[in-house]
Amino acid sequence: MKTNPIQLFTQNKPVVISGPCSAESEEQVLATCKQVAEYDKVNVLRAGIWKPRTRPNSFEGMGAEALPWLVRARKETGLPIAVEVANFNHVFESLKHDVDILWIGARTTVNPFSVQEIADALKGTDATVLVKNPINADVELWTGALERLNQAGISKLGMIHRGFAQHGKSIYRNEPKWQLPVEMKRRFPDLPLVCDPSHISGNRDLLLSVSQQALDMDFDGLMIESHIDPDNALSDKAQQVTPDALGDLLDSLVIRRPNIPDEELSNKLSRLRSQIDLIDDDLLKLLGDRMKVAEEIGLVKKEKGVTILQTNRWEEIIEKASANGALQGLSKKFMIRYLNAIHQESIDHQNDVMNKSELEE
Ligand code: PEP
Ligand code: MN
Repeated sequence: MKTNPIQLFTQNKPVVISGPCSAESEEQVLATCKQVAEYDKVNVLRAGIWKPRTRPNSFEGMGAEALPWLVRARKETGLPIAVEVANFNHVFESLKHDVDILWIGARTTVNPFSVQEIADALKGTDATVLVKNPINADVELWTGALERLNQAGISKLGMIHRGFAQHGKSIYRNEPKWQLPVEMKRRFPDLPLVCDPSHISGNRDLLLSVSQQALDMDFDGLMIESHIDPDNALSDKAQQVTPDALGDLLDSLVIRRPNIPDEELSNKLSRLRSQIDLIDDDLLKLLGDRMKVAEEIGLVKKEKGVTILQTNRWEEIIEKASANGALQGLSKKFMIRYLNAIHQESIDHQNDVMNKSELEE
């Protein structure tokens, strides 16, 4: 009987999926796959056969002609193979070649019509499918794709976090927004969650830190693009690594356990955690006090007939608090999010007291 690829995730942690962004030629696929397979830590081979490209006139993959190359790589390495599918025909061709794992790409997960087409094409098979997050930061679309597959009777499912498109400058090609995959893990605790540091990073330099972060967040696997000659790759050249660099990266990763067997360490951690709990209690108490003062200010403003929002005062607070936050080692990004949340809550409290006093009058 054929092995169930989802079982890989219970047998190996992290499961490592690697291979080229795109299958470009038989030689490139075989050379890359055979070399990455020499590392025991690599469990699955990948290659893009049909490539969704942002702009036209780029390399769009070799198509079904490339499937036998991957099949050969599977035969020569003994490792299962994974391929991206985006429509009925891709599914048909991949099943014909008995591809072990199919994945749905970020540009497909955004489109319920395409996901439904894939789900319909898979009905009655026992395919294993990993669903990448949609390009936009929307856990409902990601969830919907899993539901469509599940309703088509596909139960061997997993998720791949590949980051989210954002507007404006970022060190990442796709923002990780870690809270989203964490939410998916909460919704689907039994499904394996794989991180794709290659498409999050967009360049080799960030691969290690993103991979480590994923492992520290208890992800079940990593999908990392590798290429025998990354600088001459036909797609995603800046983010692909040579098989040797992949081996070094995997060896550098620290695998931490979610539960702590060591008693001394466990005591130390629980001490630190109670410290955190006490600090959290104090923070909440202070926030409550702050809101009470905000309510008093609301009453004064009401009496004097002035608006709740006074832009100058708010800018003054942002400036002062950001400088203070920096002294405490808090990032500007955090300070802005924190201040916005406090400001909104403060306005809500002021609004409440104003409306209340209005009713009482
Ligand atoms: C890929 O894995 O090569 C790919 C196209 O990824 P994504 O769908 O995440 O852009
Ligand atoms: Mn790619």
